[in-house]
Amino acid sequence: MSDTKFCYCCRVHHPIEQMRLFPTRQGYRWRCVRSIDAAVKSVDERAAFGQQQTAINREAARRTAEFAQRLRHLRTVAP
Ligand SMILES: [Zn+2]
Repeated sequence: MSDTKFCYCCRVHHPIEQMRLFPTRQGYRWRCVRSIDAAVKSVDERAAFGQQQTAINREAARRTAEFAQRLRHLRTVAP
């Protein structure tokens, strides 16, 4: 029978080969590679989503500015 460690993330025991010491606010605790990978991936996805949202916001702001400028221009050229 192989050694296991209690994973504080999944709250179950995993084989020690899958375990890493992970720094937490309470100090180093055992956590499985899978849960660490999943957490890293979700951070990446959040960051990607944030960047996408920033790009969308920037584009919306640009269009609004462009539209306002066009309106102003129309008003200045109108008789
Ligand atoms: Zn785990």
